[in-house]
Amino acid sequence: MITIAVANQKGGVGKTTSAINLATALAATGMRVLLVDLDPQGNASTGLGIGHSQRERSSYDVLVGETSIEEAVVHTRVPRLDIVPATVDLSGAEIELVDFDARTHRLDRAVKAAQGPWDIALIDCPPSLGLLTINAMVAADSLLVPLQCEFFALEGLSQLLSTVERIRQRFNPGLSILGVALTMFDRRNRLTDQVSADVRAVLGKVVFETVIPRNVRLSEAPSHGLPALIYDHRCSGSQAYIALARELIGRLPATAQAAA
Ligand code: ADP
Ligand code: MG
Repeated sequence: MITIAVANQKGGVGKTTSAINLATALAATGMRVLLVDLDPQGNASTGLGIGHSQRERSSYDVLVGETSIEEAVVHTRVPRLDIVPATVDLSGAEIELVDFDARTHRLDRAVKAAQGPWDIALIDCPPSLGLLTINAMVAADSLLVPLQCEFFALEGLSQLLSTVERIRQRFNPGLSILGVALTMFDRRNRLTDQVSADVRAVLGKVVFETVIPRNVRLSEAPSHGLPALIYDHRCSGSQAYIALARELIGRLPATAQAAA
């Protein structure tokens, strides 16, 4: 199983929207996909229609307890897509974990022990660089970084990259950046064009060619408990995520590509 953390310590940049819709698009190619909701807000769980009664075991129990991923996983209505849901308990985990041995490796251990059928795991990170995101970075093979097309897009990125560098040096030397995805692109706004050109000039080829447009269908879908790809698969947002998934698969090692 290849593991990708969707991370950016800024909130509202499209992490959860990207995690849900990429997971769905990857599952549509035939891959068996595991989504791990690592945000105490549980937006990925809610957005996939997972009610609170289905969250008896959650990512909190995997991190803080002895619960395995198999025990916590819930099937979604998307074929081949399973999720480890999140609950608000997770907001206490950052503090509770401080006293644990190997507090940075709790998720890594659970992911390595997972025996399920999954080809790929996506981890939806919270908007911070705390212990939850660090657990995701230690567990991950690579990162996908959504970047909102706004004036301050690059602000905070150096902090993210230096965290990645520290994780590489101390815990996970193989951690790579799979790609940076530009989100909420607005064709009618010339500023976003400029931002996207600037970001590409600074970051180069790590930026995916596919750009996710600002599209109201993407923001409506979660309130129906559905990925946009199922809520309205023809909308520009869904089509963009299908293209992004294709590009993402092209960046995976050949062994992982074979599952698609
Ligand atoms: P994060 O997980 O980084 O906090 P979200 O994916 O939850 O970000 O997105 C923040 C808000 O913006 C949500 O309300 C979401 O529905 C909306 N949103 C995300 N991407 C888009 C987009 N491309 N077009 C329109 N709305 C979007
Ligand atoms: Mg989120």
